[in-house]
This record gives sequence, structure tokens and C-alpha cells, in this order.
Amino acid sequence: MPAAAGGAATRPTQRQGDKLQHRLVQPAHAAAAALYAERIRGDSRRYAQHLSQCAAMPGAPKGAGFLATGWLTLLPWQRKLESAAMRSAIRIMLGLPHPALEHVAVRCKCGRVDLSATSSVEALEHISACNRFNKLKPHNTFAKSIETIIATTGSGVLIEREKMYYPPAPAGARETFRMDLVATGVPGIAQRLAVDPTITNPTVPTVLANAVLRHGYAANQAQEAKIVKYQQHIPTGDLFYPGAAELYGTACDTLVDLVEKLGHSAAAASRSAGERGHAGAVVAAYRQELSVGLMYARTGMLRDAVERSLDPQAAERQQRARDSYVYRVVHRGASFYHRSGPGSGRGALGSERVPG
Ligand SMILES: [Zn+2]
Repeated sequence: MPAAAGGAATRPTQRQGDKLQHRLVQPAHAAAAALYAERIRGDSRRYAQHLSQCAAMPGAPKGAGFLATGWLTLLPWQRKLESAAMRSAIRIMLGLPHPALEHVAVRCKCGRVDLSATSSVEALEHISACNRFNKLKPHNTFAKSIETIIATTGSGVLIEREKMYYPPAPAGARETFRMDLVATGVPGIAQRLAVDPTITNPTVPTVLANAVLRHGYAANQAQEAKIVKYQQHIPTGDLFYPGAAELYGTACDTLVDLVEKLGHSAAAASRSAGERGHAGAVVAAYRQELSVGLMYARTGMLRDAVERSLDPQAAERQQRARDSYVYRVVHRGASFYHRSGPGSGRGALGSERVPG
């Protein structure tokens, strides 16, 4: 926006100019979103998906669309996006069919649903609700993004994850009270930080009726379920965050709180070390990181369904090879992006971001 367009007597700074542009286009965006929402109102699954990835609706909770579009703002040289995953993600975002589902007969592992007869949203809806589809990988992809932002708040952060029991499981319970991430040494946070991420889908039948009426219903319902499950077992003084997010981008309220808390802590820590630290910029970067993780969880589910349908044995072999590779790299503490595993070219919907 040119400075003159503001009509102000004083020349606006860059920051003021950005806000002016935001104010000018905001009503147009809101009107376009409302018009679009009205047009798809009759398709409740599409509408629930729209609500989950939309932040512009009046009366929306603070987590509305929080992680929906951050992946769209990545620049090529950040090297965090595979173009195949990007194409899949855009098709899912727009509710379009996916070519990999259209041109081959793709059945879910359960055998009951022909995914090739559905849109990408309907396919995701089934996969994310189907008992035969393993949801551990998308969960881990998203959990890894949360771990990454916690780890980058400061150099003294120690994170324990996955296998540990937290708190010690009651007698007879097996893995019931396992906490995904427990962090100590986060700058500015004296307590232990316990986070148990989960991904929920507002378009599945069990929540759809409420999800179209209440923005963020699925995320906040998952948040409440985690709190009910864990609250009586959390040691006094520890901080517990459920970390629930909807598959299409809305975060539960407490996940927004966590991202803001971590961003402010990291910014304050870098300022006290004599560096520049702007909390808003750090929060934006964390939000983007989580958005990319959620996007890879989404596209990875579709790709896995296609690969397993086309060649179940090859998919299993590849998974085993990938797991052992990831294990080695994770334990050397390295971070990387997996481009393509053996045989993943055929029918692949996108490369997965391997936790590491
Ligand atoms: Zn199925």
C-alpha cells in the first residue's frame, strides 16, 4: 500500500502501512468468506472443514483457523515443503478431488470404502475415523512439530517423550497415562511442561452435527477429554497442555495459549542474552511450524492410504525401512526432511516430513 493512499498528513511507517492495508481489505475478506460459507452451507462436511480452516467468522473462538494457513506463507528457500505435499494440501483445502484417488481403484485397508469414489475431504474423513487406519504417524508428525517449538525456546530445554510413563501409571494400567512430551528447562517457565497432542477431525459423523454449529467444537471437545483423563494425575505445580488441533487447522484454546507462552518466553530469553527478540515474530514462526506439521499429517494420511491400497506388502516394507532410518537419525539429534523412500514414487501423494 503506497503511503499516499492512507491520506494521512504524516508519512506512515512500514508497520502502520501494513495495518492500514489490513483494515481496508478486512471487510472485503469477511464479506467474501460469509458469501462462500452461505454457498456451501448445504454440504455439512464441506462446511465443517471450512469452519475449521477459517479464522474470519464472527464469534469464532481464539483457536479458529490458528494452524490452517501458516504453511501457505513458507518461502521456497525455507525448504520445508515438498511440492507434491503442497499440491495435495491445496486440493484438500479447496475440497477438490485428488487425481491419485480418481484414476486408480483405492480401497481403504478396512475394505469397506472405495476412496477413489470420494473427494479428498471425504477420503480423509473416512481414513481419520477408520479403525483399520493407523493414526500414529500423523499424530507423531504433529507432536514432532510441537516438540520442535518447545526445543527451540532455549538451549537448556530437555524433552522426554513417548515411551515414558507420566506420571507413573497406576497398577494394572498399560500405557493409559503416557504423556507424549514432558519438557524441563523452558526459559521463563519454572514448572515441568507436559503436552499431549492430538488430532481430531470435525467432519467425522460423531462430531459433525455439532461442528457445523459451533466453530472449534471438535478441537475443544478433544481438549476437554484430555483434561478429564489427565487432570487428576498431573503432579501439583506442573503445567499440562492438551495440544488438540482439528485436521484442517483450528486449535483448542489451550494450544493457542501454549504457543503464545512459548513465544514470549523464547523472546524474553533471547533479549536477556543481548539478542533481538520480538515475541510476535517468534509466535508467528511457531504457529507456522505447527501449521506445516499439521499439513504433513493431513497429506501423509492420504498418501499412506493410496500406497497401502496399491501394494500393501511394499508399503509395510517401506515403513519398516523408514522407521529404522528415522530412529537412527533422531538419536543423533539431527533434523531433516525425508524426500522419498524406496518405492514411494508410484502413487505418492506427497513426501512425508519425517520426525527427526
Ligand atoms: Zn476404512
